[in-house]
Amino acid sequence: MDVMEVMTSLVHKLNNFVFSLRLLDVVDILVVAYLIYRLLLLVRKTNSSRLLKGVLVVIAALWLSTDRLPALNFALTHVVEWGVLALIILFQPEIRRVLEQVGSSQLPFLQIFSKPQVDRETIEDAIGQIVAACGDMSKSRTGALIVFERKNQTDEILRSGTKLDAEVSSELLKNIFFVKAPMHDGAVIIREGRVLGAGCMLPLSRNVNLSRDLGMRHRAGIGMSENSDAVVVLVSEETGSISVAVGGMLKRHLMTETLDQLLRNELLPQPDEDEAQAGKKRKGLLGRLTKDKKDGGKADE
Ligand code: ATP
Ligand code: MG
Repeated sequence: MDVMEVMTSLVHKLNNFVFSLRLLDVVDILVVAYLIYRLLLLVRKTNSSRLLKGVLVVIAALWLSTDRLPALNFALTHVVEWGVLALIILFQPEIRRVLEQVGSSQLPFLQIFSKPQVDRETIEDAIGQIVAACGDMSKSRTGALIVFERKNQTDEILRSGTKLDAEVSSELLKNIFFVKAPMHDGAVIIREGRVLGAGCMLPLSRNVNLSRDLGMRHRAGIGMSENSDAVVVLVSEETGSISVAVGGMLKRHLMTETLDQLLRNELLPQPDEDEAQAGKKRKGLLGRLTKDKKDGGKADE
């Protein structure tokens, strides 16, 4: 067969393929492509590229050994069978997070399960009290760790601490984090403008590139922001410095004014949110993809 023949048959096949495509096939391909894209993002975010390479090597070996090396093929088939189970167990937190994200997406038919919106004033008050408390704790070098829950539920984390249900006040927060107070160790969780718990254990960050001068409190704050969409505020006991962790990134050495602005931006529904929501629905998948690209880039920084 010469080159021309190969080319003609290729063009012919491509032509057949394109004309036999139905709309449903296109949707099918797009959905699979999107899932693969999300999987790759997850692999990059969780630094599991070595694991992925391992999985690919096993799959390649399985494919190559079919019909040729029956013993190896037999062994690998069993490894793969159990391997799927092992991967699910290994990636349980990540799988859970992805499913939670799917559940908290803006799909209209899922809206009935969403939490009712808390009024803006309650959140504004809570932010004001927390900023004031952080200012005071920064001056007195009192260590603090405050988690603002957003869409991802923190119930599991709340179970590790002491349950409360109190209005946020600067005095309460300073009391909780006072060095000799029984609940000063661990994190305070804020949900819908209320203090829901204190003394909570947060997951530590798995990022090995964090600055060496960050201790456990900061690693726990960053870890929480990697594992959920929470906004975490920290006050350092050693330096009095205020930081905020969002999406695995830590903004350090903040002035109280900057903290206030940052929390407002992250936690309050923006005035043009309704418009943005409408825009998001219009943009649909494409809009989400560009947003994810930004998130993916962030994890690298
Ligand atoms: P600082 O600048 O305040 O010293 P740091 O980042 O250096 O903070 P450490 O000195 O190690 O951190 O702070 C230890 C405190 O951090 C503990 O007393 C505890 O209150 C809190 N902490 C440590 N690990 C966790 C965790 N997994 N979850 C919640 N809080 C934690
Ligand atoms: Mg320390």
